Amino acid sequence: MLHILQRLFLVNEQSRFQRAAQAFFLGICAPLGWFCITAVLQLSVTDPLYEVALYAYITLGSVFVMVGFALAISKSEEAFARLSLLDPLTGLYNSRYMLTRADQEFALFERSGQHMALLMADIDHFKYVNDQYGHSVGDIVLQQVAKIMQTTARKVDVVARVGGEEFSLLLPDSTTEGAMILAERIRERIANTPITLPDGRTIQVKISLGVSSTEEFVPQIFNELYESADNALYRAKRDGRNRVVKAVESDVLTGEVAC
Ligand code: GH3
Ligand code: MG
Ligand code: MG
Repeated sequence: MLHILQRLFLVNEQSRFQRAAQAFFLGICAPLGWFCITAVLQLSVTDPLYEVALYAYITLGSVFVMVGFALAISKSEEAFARLSLLDPLTGLYNSRYMLTRADQEFALFERSGQHMALLMADIDHFKYVNDQYGHSVGDIVLQQVAKIMQTTARKVDVVARVGGEEFSLLLPDSTTEGAMILAERIRERIANTPITLPDGRTIQVKISLGVSSTEEFVPQIFNELYESADNALYRAKRDGRNRVVKAVESDVLTGEVAC
């Protein structure tokens, strides 16, 4: 039904002038429609049914057109709203959505004490992949890494691409242990899954992760959780890469920035 209305009103991907022309056309059609009805039914102004039929025509006609436009346009709005929260390359959430959800989850933690965790991940030596194989292969790698993260995480986890080859996973209602298990599983799967390129060659990448949890220390604001996970990631890089490092309270204070 919605599909028919959309086709009828040609709502998708129209310019504002085309939309105005459609509205103009529908506006012109209204009196023409009434003219046709009176001609077919041979209704005259003196006919007792004339007014009833006219009111019925105006009411049903307006409702049909308004509801049709509203349904078709709101479907497009929903699709645009969804797209504005997704990363176009990987289909993961973008940082805007992740930060909005993070605020909600952090508020829940403050109110009810339900623990949450944050994973920050960065592909190791990704510049080398781009330099060696080209940017388009780099993009394929990003898509495959994203897919592994998405399929390894739980449905409630928010998996987002927050930078070029940087990802974050927001884990609502999660213990430190659960977050560490997930991080290790993601690291292992990525390290053990060769990515097949369109020309048949395979490539293998590795990833480092920092894990921060409200169970380890009490952050005052979400940013402290973010900063500590980022610093744990920095230490994972510094300590040799391809590893998971858990954040400790001092990670909030060090002020170091992950690479
Ligand atoms: P490290 O192990 O320390 O993380 O080293 P690295 O080489 O991964 O260093 P860094 O994290 O600074 O590399 C980021 C690279 O990611 C640089 C940039 O060329 C690449 N990059 C960023 N966005 C994209 C993208 O959308 N597609 C591709 N193919 N590459 C990207
Ligand atoms: Mg990076
Ligand atoms: Mg990197």
